[in-house]
Amino acid sequence: MTTHVTDIAQSAFLQQQPVKMLIGGQWVNSASGKTFETFNPSTGEVLAKVAEGDAEDINRAVVAARKAFESGPWPKLTPSQRGRLLWKLADLIEKHVDELALLETLDNGKPIKYSKAADIPLTADHFRYFAGWATKLEGDTIPVSIPNMFTYTLREPVGVVGQIIPWNFPIQMAAWKLAPALACGNTVILKPAEQTPLTALRLGELISEAGFPDGVVNIVAGFGETAGAALVAHPDVDKIAFTGSTEVGKKILQASAGNLKRVTLELGGKSPNIIFPDADLKFAVRGAMNAIFFNQGQICTAGSRLFVHKSVYDQVVSGLSDLAKGMKIGLGVDPTTDLGPLVSQEQWERVTGYIETGKREGANATTGGARPDNEQLKGYFVQPTVFDNVSDEMTIAREEIFGPVVTALPFEDVEEVAARANKSIYGLAAGVWTSDVKKAHKTAAALKAGVVWINTYNQFDAAAPFGGYKQSGYGREMGHAVLDAYTQTKTVWVNLR
Ligand code: NAP
Ligand code: MG
Repeated sequence: MTTHVTDIAQSAFLQQQPVKMLIGGQWVNSASGKTFETFNPSTGEVLAKVAEGDAEDINRAVVAARKAFESGPWPKLTPSQRGRLLWKLADLIEKHVDELALLETLDNGKPIKYSKAADIPLTADHFRYFAGWATKLEGDTIPVSIPNMFTYTLREPVGVVGQIIPWNFPIQMAAWKLAPALACGNTVILKPAEQTPLTALRLGELISEAGFPDGVVNIVAGFGETAGAALVAHPDVDKIAFTGSTEVGKKILQASAGNLKRVTLELGGKSPNIIFPDADLKFAVRGAMNAIFFNQGQICTAGSRLFVHKSVYDQVVSGLSDLAKGMKIGLGVDPTTDLGPLVSQEQWERVTGYIETGKREGANATTGGARPDNEQLKGYFVQPTVFDNVSDEMTIAREEIFGPVVTALPFEDVEEVAARANKSIYGLAAGVWTSDVKKAHKTAAALKAGVVWINTYNQFDAAAPFGGYKQSGYGREMGHAVLDAYTQTKTVWVNLR
């Protein structure tokens, strides 16, 4: 059965005035009574009013999460029971794939073909993968050199966890945060981004339906400076997991110092994507297009610095520009759309501001560089843009744009390109395109990035660790690497004498 926009608009979920927040198993309005609006970026129209959480709501959510962590059914559940709840949630997400995909597309603007084929199925996969970990959190027995001692470790949950997420992949970011935290037995307060609160809140309904005990997951929508800051500063929160900008990440680290919270940070990027002349060029050019234009370029791993060997530079830049021109720009809900709107007016201004800066500093847009010439498209649209005649020092080649804008940069040899690729405050991801297996591995080793893709780009899987080097953050999500972030080790010594 396919869900349509009108079905969604009339759904009980969006009929709420406002959409409420989840605290201690109850759906409630904000303590202040305040609300905020979330928009459909394809049209600029208001989609829903949402209860606006603030310090008082965060405090109530922390109290509920603490209670659920210390007493009641949650700490008594067996690992198998925790795993089953996560699996059940994955089933419910799959059951509602059409509805969730449409809600995500309406709130964020991303093309429906991607939210349906990727965002929602990957969200279900994520919960399923971590359902399996609940029963595999093993400690060690330690062969200490003190006679008669039996020494072992236990892996215990960290406690009450605050999770703050961005707007670019709203439900997937919620899953990346919630699934490992819950598999490890923590309780959570999740704050979605103000631009895209809807799928996280709808997920909250499914979490209750799956049977998670009250207070295990609390979801409070609101603004970063108020709700987010209150969560980070709260003395009874044990850990903060944050995904967002490097600028806000630094603030979070400072604000969390009061009770020495554990902090993990997934931050920005300015990722190099390197095409060697021996690559399958047709394939590489298509890869370069996906690397920068997927999700309207609003992805922290965006391949925004395209390094191309000078012998194939003109061919690659003209091929990429042609592919960009051929992309269909359209409403998120149109199934034929390749490139939707940016998430907000603010983001539109930021991205078009960078485009203007690029032109002013002397770069040349081979394609794009403006709003699409189509009166039907009233939302926050910008054309896919390719810049050449760029130098490494230009603003557009150094700063994260977080939009469909790529800078093409010619290079001559392997050492040179690796050094230039690494000359960035960021180190999140990188791409390498070559048919020479030695060059591929050598370049991967030389790049200072948390993820390197060879002859592919933007691959993610719940089993594969993901995270940054340098100012792209620390800690890893996904795979067993993330379990370190949501457990702590207790060492137990037993005197057997
Ligand atoms: P952002 O401004 O850093 O916001 C991220 C989240 O932090 C939002 O929920 C925001 O609340 C909240 N926030 C803002 N100020 C806060 C404060 N003082 N205390 C606590 N929370 C606060 O980033 P964004 O503009 O939403 O997202 C784009 C950025 O995220 C890019 O730089 C991108 O690279 C990065 N990103 C990284 C990854 C990754 O995995 N490494 C993934 C996606 C995005 P509001 O609701 O008020 O915005
Ligand atoms: Mg919205």
